[in-house]
Amino acid sequence: MKKLIAAVALALLSQPALAEEAAPEQARWSLAIHGGAGTLDPKAMTPEKRAAYEADLQRALDAGSKILAEGGDAMDAIKAAIIIMEDSPLFNAGKGAVFTWDGTNELDASIMDGRDRSAGAVAGVKTVRNPILLADTVRTQSEHVMLMGAGAEAFAAEKGFEVTPPEYFATEARREALERLKAEKLSALDVDHKFGTVGAVALDTKGNMAAGTSTGGMTGKRWGRVGDAPMIGAGTYADNRACALSATGWGEYFIRVGVAHEICARLRTWWTVDPQTMESALGEALAKAGSDDANSFELKLPRAPEDLAQSIADSVMADVAALGGDGGVILVTPEGHAIFSFNTTGMYRGRATSAGLNEVAIFGGEERASSTPDH
Ligand code: ASP
Repeated sequence: MKKLIAAVALALLSQPALAEEAAPEQARWSLAIHGGAGTLDPKAMTPEKRAAYEADLQRALDAGSKILAEGGDAMDAIKAAIIIMEDSPLFNAGKGAVFTWDGTNELDASIMDGRDRSAGAVAGVKTVRNPILLADTVRTQSEHVMLMGAGAEAFAAEKGFEVTPPEYFATEARREALERLKAEKLSALDVDHKFGTVGAVALDTKGNMAAGTSTGGMTGKRWGRVGDAPMIGAGTYADNRACALSATGWGEYFIRVGVAHEICARLRTWWTVDPQTMESALGEALAKAGSDDANSFELKLPRAPEDLAQSIADSVMADVAALGGDGGVILVTPEGHAIFSFNTTGMYRGRATSAGLNEVAIFGGEERASSTPDH
């Protein structure tokens, strides 16, 4: 029996790393986007409003998919998708960002390349039309990962970014939300109902992954409050060995859990468990099953990468909920699965893969059950 356990453990441990498994599939690509999660009520959503959100999500999805389908880079695909959502007044990023307590729009964004884990982020910028591009410039043209406020804007000017007048970002709906929050002494959650942060994650045909997130934060934020969106490891993470992930939700909780890194790290370490731990786990599994038959318990191990990624994402989101936070994540895996996990009633989202999957959804349970990228 010991021999059998060791043999099975060895077989499992000698599985190629997830990233290597994906490499031979030259034509495989995958993209997921989000425009924020939240307490969304289907009855409060008019058909016109729904159509407007779906149209902008679809445009973002199409822009990214086109690049990936033509063999382009994951990094370019996520930027193309995010720019469209930053430019749309419907989402809380770029134009349409929420207001701070002082009546300004302060933007945060981050981006990460799964190839080398290079990353860039900006926080509290007020005059950059597409903060995701500034975050990427921090990644590629500075020695730093994160720049904030006036310093980030000075860097933007030096790198040739146009100064966008702050009024450009303001929308009536967001201004009213701030006024209501102040007048009725409400919290951001009461007036925002949803977190309209935007994000995109992609796997390209070369097996490279990238993730990006952009936001205005939460209505009425003060004292230079910064959420999870620009924090690498909380709102954004990408590692070719594991996953690319972008989050939306109550940022303080995502920072405390380290959501983006936590999910990617659990995925990365799954196949590299210490042999002794694996052996004793397998021994227990065999004893429980009362069987010496390797096949009988092999089936019970979560070997399907999609199930594994979904259950890891769900369990980290459950951890966020246990602390009192809510929101959601999107992720892609090296095998090309595009996965959503959220503990809110809805999340503006979309996904497309080389296998022909192409869908946008808003409320829970609207998407297909699986994103299996079979060709
Ligand atoms: N996560 C963002 C923040 O806390 C908010 C959002 O997702 O809309 O700033």
